Amino acid sequence: MAKKQKTIALIAHDGKKHEMVNWALQHKEVLQGYKLCGTGTTARLISEATGLEVKGYLSGPLGGDLQIGAKMAEKAVDMVVFFWDPLSAQPHDPDVKALLRIAVVYDIPIATNRATANLMLSI
Ligand code: PGA
Repeated sequence: MAKKQKTIALIAHDGKKHEMVNWALQHKEVLQGYKLCGTGTTARLISEATGLEVKGYLSGPLGGDLQIGAKMAEKAVDMVVFFWDPLSAQPHDPDVKALLRIAVVYDIPIATNRATANLMLSI
């Protein structure tokens, strides 16, 4: 039986979007083998830069993190790359915490920096 294609959710705060787009470009070949989704702006920027199809949810501050958190709880997201910005306050900080929490609850790999994201794609 063919293995089900895994889904990666991609989220980057504004101060980390440039880094996320560069990371996605660097790993475009590998990412082609996954279903991709992300918060609104992150999904659009990655899709524009790489040509990859990235299903966009709402923008993070408008509930996108929560939508992805819900997908994680439904086991519809297998991995997350979440470049949160440790140097700026986020209006949706409670949602950010909820996302991190649900990843732990369901034991879903969540890479919060480039080094971990690289490692996650390499195994
Ligand atoms: P965005 O959301 O990709 O729509 O900017 C990310 C976030 O701030 O959580």
